[in-house]
Amino acid sequence: MRSIVIGGGIAGLLAARVLAERGPVTIVERDPGGGARRGVPQGRHLHGLLDGGREIVEELHPGFTADLVAAGALTAEPLVHTRWYLHGRRLHPTGTGMRSVLASRPLLEDVLRRRTDAAVRTGTAAGLELDAGRVRGLLLADGEVLPADLVVDASGRASRLPDWLAELGLARPREDRVDVDLGYATRTFRRHPHHLGGDLNALVSTVPRSRGGGAMAIEGDRWLVTLAGLLGDHPPTDDAGFRAFAASLPAGPVGEIVAEAEPLDDAVPYRFRGSRHRRYDLLPCLPEGLVVLGDAVCSLNPLYAQGMTLAAQQVKALHAWDGRRARDLHRTIGRLCATAWEIATRADLALPEVHGSRPLPARVLDGYVSRVQRVAHADPVVARALIRVANLADPAAALLAPEILRRVLRPGADHPVAHEERTGVPA
Ligand SMILES: Cc1cc2nc3c(=O)[nH]c(=O)nc-3n(C[C@H](O)[C@H](O)[C@H](O)COP(=O)(O)OP(=O)(O)OC[C@H]3O[C@@H](n4cnc5c(N)ncnc54)[C@H](O)[C@@H]3O)c2cc1C
Repeated sequence: MRSIVIGGGIAGLLAARVLAERGPVTIVERDPGGGARRGVPQGRHLHGLLDGGREIVEELHPGFTADLVAAGALTAEPLVHTRWYLHGRRLHPTGTGMRSVLASRPLLEDVLRRRTDAAVRTGTAAGLELDAGRVRGLLLADGEVLPADLVVDASGRASRLPDWLAELGLARPREDRVDVDLGYATRTFRRHPHHLGGDLNALVSTVPRSRGGGAMAIEGDRWLVTLAGLLGDHPPTDDAGFRAFAASLPAGPVGEIVAEAEPLDDAVPYRFRGSRHRRYDLLPCLPEGLVVLGDAVCSLNPLYAQGMTLAAQQVKALHAWDGRRARDLHRTIGRLCATAWEIATRADLALPEVHGSRPLPARVLDGYVSRVQRVAHADPVVARALIRVANLADPAAALLAPEILRRVLRPGADHPVAHEERTGVPA
């Protein structure tokens, strides 16, 4: 089977790895090469690979984590050497049994690219060639047609596949949207071992306000500091504005790094209008020999850091697919996207200004999750459960396990200040 993958980002590189088991693979990429690429403008910003995603990539590429470490990346156990602040307070430090890898997005991609055998063809995909309802090839912008038995669209959020289907007289997928008008600004700083008392990552979540930020230790003794603001409250990129925004966050560590550490570059912006899920899983007829993966099918609010992990989950489904009915695979991908969509958009819909439906059961569950977050400031067992779910290492249902329910619903459990006064555990 000859496969063509459109796009050599995270989804495309992983897909090429599994398709290589079935025959020759060509990646068509408009912006090949390494490092920070123009084709992936989000790559300059903080990219946390959730542990659930790292484990899948490690299964596909045994030794992936070790390669990253050899290239200068750091690893850390979440909540042991990384901190997470929600509602302005720090989650209780505790062992979580996970291993996060901390690296820039260009390094993640470079390590994957070195491990991918596929041929890379520089070019811009511009359409599909069909014959009797089957994909037979990929049309490039220069007019050339590359023959293929399978075309995988992994061209990211800006995928033009819906237009190509319409040009062929086929239906476009429905697009679900939740708009958040999120702005990012990112800058790197020199890292010294004493910063943050030796901890390697600090995330200050937007909850319950619309601002947040993160500082991640990356290769080259650097901090990658990303500031974020929802609903048009975008962080400035000029020096004074960036510092003032960092200082305004509801918890201190990101602001401390920005105030103390030496900046290595100017801040770069990114604007993200909202989450999108193109419902290829609901299309009654999609050509055989066509698969859509990654941001091309579902692009989520990046604050929840799920995108690369969702892409890895989809590629795992591609690996398990028997190659017969594309519809079966898209239904599986649709289910994976629905779970991630629920996590990202439900948190966004907690902000009254965000448009979208809020059914009563969802609101009840939101109230419970908000209490879980507050209890996790003082209860290490709940903190561990929460961060494992947030890393997609455990399913969300783990937060409803009897032991967690008991701890979360205990009267007064969500008043961490009283707990800290008793125990002296720092906030
Ligand atoms: C600001 C920001 C921060 C993020 N932070 C995180 C995070 O912390 N954790 C996380 O897991 N995810 C994060 N994400 C999401 C993550 O970037 C994506 O989900 C992930 O990269 C999967 O993308 P992909 O491979 O589908 O597409 P991309 O990585 O966007 O790659 C698409 C590729 O296709 C190529 N291409 C596009 N069109 C064509 C064409 N017509 N012909 C040929 N080539 C083409 C592009 O050049 C590019 O190389 C973030 C996203 C943003 C916007």
